[in-house]
Amino acid sequence: MNASLPAAEPVPSPQPRTDDERTLLVKVFGKDRPGITAGLFATLADFAVDVIDIEQMVTRGRITLCALITPPAGGSPGVEGALRATVHRWAEELKLQAEIISGTGDNRPRREGRSHVTVLGHPLTAAAVAALTTRITSAGGNIDRVFRLAKYPVTAVELAVSGVPTEELRAELAVEAATQRVDIAVVQAGLQRRAKRLVVMDVDSTLIQDEVIELFAAHAGCEAKVAEVTAAAMAGELDFAESLRARVALLAGLDASVTEKVRAEVRLTPGARTLIRTLQRLGFQVAIVSGGFTQVTDHLVEQLGLDFAAANTLEVVDGKFTGRVTGEIVDRAGKARWLARFAEQAKVPLEQTVAIGDGANDLDMLNAAGLGVAFNAKPVVRQAADTAVNVPFLDTVLYLLGITREEVEAADALDGTPTE
Ligand SMILES: [Mg+2]
Repeated sequence: MNASLPAAEPVPSPQPRTDDERTLLVKVFGKDRPGITAGLFATLADFAVDVIDIEQMVTRGRITLCALITPPAGGSPGVEGALRATVHRWAEELKLQAEIISGTGDNRPRREGRSHVTVLGHPLTAAAVAALTTRITSAGGNIDRVFRLAKYPVTAVELAVSGVPTEELRAELAVEAATQRVDIAVVQAGLQRRAKRLVVMDVDSTLIQDEVIELFAAHAGCEAKVAEVTAAAMAGELDFAESLRARVALLAGLDASVTEKVRAEVRLTPGARTLIRTLQRLGFQVAIVSGGFTQVTDHLVEQLGLDFAAANTLEVVDGKFTGRVTGEIVDRAGKARWLARFAEQAKVPLEQTVAIGDGANDLDMLNAAGLGVAFNAKPVVRQAADTAVNVPFLDTVLYLLGITREEVEAADALDGTPTE
C-alpha cells in the first residue's frame, strides 16, 4: 500500500445473495422500438427495487427483455401487487406482453466443464441444430447461452455449454458435425480465449487458392506431372520431402525470371485479407509456413505485413532454377518445428497458438497447436484435426475464435476498409 495515501474507509464486504431470498423475474416480449428498456426500468424505479440481472435480445424486430429484481422495499403484498399492476399497465400501453414470475435466488451457477461450441452452416439447417443440441444433452451438457456470430458468408452461432469436459464434448460433436455437414469448433471457455495469440497458416490451398509449384510447373510445361505428385503427397500417400524433390527436379532449367509472373498469378483465398487484418488489429501475430517457396512467400509477407515466414527456397544458378532446393526442407515435421520456433519468438505459449492447414504435411503442426483448424482439408487431415472448416472463406476462422462479423465490419468501417 502507498504510505502517502490516507487510510481508506473500511469497505463493507458485499454479502452474496442467498438462494432462499425472494426475487421477481420480469419478462417483456413484443415489437421492439426505442425506449422499451428505459421505460421498464423507470416503471420499476418507482418501487425502489434492486436489479440482480438483465438479459435482452432483439430477433427480427422482436424484443425479449428479462429483468431479475428484488421485491419492492418494505415487502408488503400490497406494494408488490401495485408493482405488478403498474408494469402490466405500462406494457399494455406499448402493446407488449409482460410476465412477472415470483421465485427465489439468482440464476443457478454454471456447472463445471465449460466450453464454447461454434457451429458454422452454409446453410445451417434446423435438422443440424436439432441433432447437435440433442448430442449435447445426451452427453450430460447444458446449453447456457446461444447467440449469432455471423450471418454472412456463413451462418455462425455460438453456444455456451457446461457440464461436459471439453474433450469429451468435442469428440461427441465431431461425429455429428460430419453427418450433418456443418463445421464445429469446441474450445475450452476461459480467459486464455481472449489472450493475444499467434496464428500460423499453411500457404498453398490455405492462404492462397493455388499450389505454387503447379504455377511454376505451368511455365515449365510439366504441370500435369507435378499436379499428380502433389495430390498424392497431400493425401499422405507419399513422403513429402521425397515428393518435393521429385517435383522441383522437373523445374530444372526454367528461367528464374518467371517468379515475377508466378507472384502475379497467386490468388488469395476469399476472406484472407479480412482474417489477417482483424487478427493484427487484435494484436495477434501472424505467420506462414509453407512447403512451397520463399520466392513467393517473401512477397506475401511484404504484401500482407506478416510477422514470420518459413518456406523452401528454389536454388538459382546463372538465372535458372537448378531443380534443387537449398537449406532445411520445410516438410511435415519441419512445419511443426517452425510453429514452435515462431511461438518462442512471439513469446506465446504453444497452447495459445492456432494453426490452419489443408494437407497431410500440416498434420503435425495442427496437432501441436492449441487449436488446429483443418481448412477445406483432405479427409485424412479433417479426421485428425480439432476442428474442420469446409467452407471456402478463410475469415470464418475468426468466428471460431469468438469474433463476430459485426465486430469485424465495425472495425473496418472505422478506418474505411471495405470488408471482403
Ligand atoms: Mg496446403
